[in-house]
Amino acid sequence: MDLGITGRRALVCASSKGLGRGCADALAAEGVELVINARGADALDETATLLRARHGGGVTAVAADITTDEGRAAVLDAAGEVDILVTNAGGPPPGLWTDWEREDFIAALDANMLTPIALMKALVPGMIERGWGRVVNITSVSVKSPIAVLGLSNSARAGLTGYVAGTSRQVAGKGVIINNLLPGIHDTDRAAALDGGVSRSENISVEEARARREATIPAGRYGTAAEFGAACAFLCSQHAGFIVGQNLLLDGGATNATL
Ligand code: NAP
Repeated sequence: MDLGITGRRALVCASSKGLGRGCADALAAEGVELVINARGADALDETATLLRARHGGGVTAVAADITTDEGRAAVLDAAGEVDILVTNAGGPPPGLWTDWEREDFIAALDANMLTPIALMKALVPGMIERGWGRVVNITSVSVKSPIAVLGLSNSARAGLTGYVAGTSRQVAGKGVIINNLLPGIHDTDRAAALDGGVSRSENISVEEARARREATIPAGRYGTAAEFGAACAFLCSQHAGFIVGQNLLLDGGATNATL
């Protein structure tokens, strides 16, 4: 299927690795010109080189912390006018509900709610002016089904979800389509770090922690960044114009729910 976005320009945040990179890769495969971002310059440059080699398109890399005002300013400056925005940042640390203080919530809100909102506020007006835009926010399965050790994620991402539910319906008529992608467990560094945490707290091997988690997923495995990227590219496509303010769960069936 031709996704109809060849020649469009996309900003994909937090994309040197993992799900963000999967989205960047899938968009580049469709002929989209990219601005990619992460804090670590080395991995980011490696990813830019890989994407250029694989797809031949333009890739601009901006090393910056997307959760800070200065970092966002640098990324937005380099990005200029974009047609497609994929928001993403690292997830909050695990812990228990008794662990977190106000500062922990402020940091989680900054990274996983207020940063995507600031990016939409900066870029959606230009999309509206030009009459076409796509925004995909990478959130989490924690929005549909809370994860006990990720209370900061449960909280901050719920706030973003509410914002998107309201805002997406105000801009859809101007040609700008906003949706959220909700990853369940995918095979990335983040999943490996969480498995490492379980391994330490339960005194089992990392392999055992992973096997136990895989057994809870009806698909019987972790998702891949490539699968996630393909779903993102579709939501950014010409064909997604009637999908407004939705929360698409990619979790191999792990959330046991009818809707
Ligand atoms: P990952 O493999 O750890 O990759 C994270 C990427 O984001 C890296 O490129 C990292 O590069 C970049 N990054 C992190 N913090 C950043 C910041 N402040 N500014 C700019 N770039 C930043 O993580 P992932 O698995 O792809 O997860 C992506 C998001 O999905 C996270 O919010 C995660 O919580 C959520 N999620 C993941 C899963 C899963 O199973 N993988 C499940 C549910 C939700 P630098 O470190 O160099 O900045």
